[in-house]
Amino acid sequence: MGWKTVGQSTSIERVSRAIHQKRLSHAYLICGADGVGKLTFALDIAKIANCLNVDRDLAPCGSCNQCLRIEAYNHTDVHLYDVDRDSGSENHASTMVSIEQLREDFLKKVHRKPYEGRTRVFIISSVDSMRAEQSNILLKTLEEPPEDVMIILLAQDSSAVLATIVSRCQILSLEQVSEANIVELLTSFNLDADAPLLQIAKLARGRPEWARQVAMDPGILQNLEDKLNDFVGCLGDGMGQRLDLSRKLSNQFMRHRDEVFDFLDIAITWTRDVLLVAVGRSDTIVNISRKEEIKGLSNILGIIDILTILKLLKITNDHLRKNVTSSLVFDNMMLKLPSVGKITM
Ligand SMILES: [Zn+2]
Repeated sequence: MGWKTVGQSTSIERVSRAIHQKRLSHAYLICGADGVGKLTFALDIAKIANCLNVDRDLAPCGSCNQCLRIEAYNHTDVHLYDVDRDSGSENHASTMVSIEQLREDFLKKVHRKPYEGRTRVFIISSVDSMRAEQSNILLKTLEEPPEDVMIILLAQDSSAVLATIVSRCQILSLEQVSEANIVELLTSFNLDADAPLLQIAKLARGRPEWARQVAMDPGILQNLEDKLNDFVGCLGDGMGQRLDLSRKLSNQFMRHRDEVFDFLDIAITWTRDVLLVAVGRSDTIVNISRKEEIKGLSNILGIIDILTILKLLKITNDHLRKNVTSSLVFDNMMLKLPSVGKITM
């Protein structure tokens, strides 16, 4: 079975080589976009550090007792912590705990001997959301890592992680995975024949874990489509309806911020698609299931309008990430979006 990680040959090779030289690091920092597969790779490393058959091909076997228990989140020596619970699509909610527990729990456990495996593995996600005092908890342990312990930190962006932490870790940067690899992954799940695999693979833009989750739960894609429909519709709406949509998005953001970020992401790809069609590059669009709508809009909207929409979506995304009040951010977007008259498709 080997690695469950999709793509990432460079990072996999580094870990394989370390296994071959019996020099696995005590601390790794895995960086990459949400949904690219950081947690999957961390679990792969936890497996290889504990696998009973690892010598064969320098990969976790995936079938020994150790690998199976890690895969099922049942291994007593593999611990998952999430600093920011609502931080991304890779959460395995039932096993993630808060930073307070990290302080209580992690410091206690990190000095114990492995119980059933060779190596105790602590996987801590969203370390780029850590505050300074939280980072210090980690830093002390990273400075003097106990024997038989491996700490794997996950972050979207290493530049947002405290430099003193980064300098004590080996950095594994995960890259975007090719569309073909993602289609191959999705095909392996034997989903319904009418599942929009190619559309999901395109929307995933290099993130296989995101694609897997969307393929497994058709409700996610439907939800995004509904939000995108609202957004496209609002371009032709009056201000009253737009402000209603602003309130709706703002409320959703309070409850499910990741879903709203996913929506903004797709709205950006959709707008870029309109631009691509407008400049005669319709063969390269992402939202292939909305091709006709996109063609129609590219006829109605001028290039300046399209660029304005794109810019507003990006500003909205940036401001929300910087925790600007969501109602203000969405109201601002709605007020400034170009008005294109009633859209009849
Ligand atoms: Zn194994």
